[in-house]
Amino acid sequence: MIGLGRQFHGSTCAKNASPTMGNMAMRILLLGSPGSGKGTQSSRLQKNFNLGAISSGDLLRRNIANGTEIGKFAAKEIERGAYVSDNIMIELITNELRTIKRKNWLLDGFPRTINQAIALDDNLSLTGQPLNLVINLQVPEEVILQRIMDRWVHVPSGRVYNLSYNPPKRPGLDDVTGEKLSKRTDDNAEIFKIRLQKHRELTEPLLEYYSKRNMLVTFTGSTSDEIYPKIEGELLRRFGVENFNQGRRPEIVNEEANNIPLNDVN
Ligand code: AMP
Repeated sequence: MIGLGRQFHGSTCAKNASPTMGNMAMRILLLGSPGSGKGTQSSRLQKNFNLGAISSGDLLRRNIANGTEIGKFAAKEIERGAYVSDNIMIELITNELRTIKRKNWLLDGFPRTINQAIALDDNLSLTGQPLNLVINLQVPEEVILQRIMDRWVHVPSGRVYNLSYNPPKRPGLDDVTGEKLSKRTDDNAEIFKIRLQKHRELTEPLLEYYSKRNMLVTFTGSTSDEIYPKIEGELLRRFGVENFNQGRRPEIVNEEANNIPLNDVN
């Protein structure tokens, strides 16, 4: 794996967190290989911070479920572990970004190529709201394969379950709606290898792209439970507590921060 940006094997501390940072909007990108837990982290962040979120994979799966033209095209690519074309993805996400009304938001799964990253930067600079933090999840490969074999999803909401550590309350059914869960067509060992390969080839170069722009921070761990408090601590440190869902205790772990300076966040 590429070791770029600041690495966290422990976690961050909130020593620099200041209430004066509370007005700062959170515009975050989550990066990580397939099965690294982007969906899980995104759900927790949405719940604990006042965040809107766009997941490109969820968006494509909803298009597939609804039988749209994009869905028909995307289904073929997803089933064989390939990427959907940059043009389609850029149009899809650009339209979706227009619907986000919240000040704070997070992208999961887009951009996934350098072309997409450039298009996103161009698009966001037009609105004067550039990304201000890129979070890279780094999880050992041997852990990931087992994880995706055990993964079930609720397509309409994007909720993710794992049979070993986050099972649904009733087998095969979504906890919130009671609707049926499904297995992703690309969650099998054979296709996973191809997805991992695509990720290395096309998405890992983004680590350098964002590292050069001083926006990248990497968190390492074997489980989402281990990684989440580190992300939370980092967001509190950078953006202050105002965006935090009041009434909850932060899950941050108190350890030395080794991070890009706060004034790089704007
Ligand atoms: P995910 O749910 O993020 O793992 O995405 C599932 C699949 O959707 C990927 O393996 C790709 O086939 C496709 N996909 C999602 N986002 C993108 C993107 N930004 N660019 C190209 N293909 C994508």
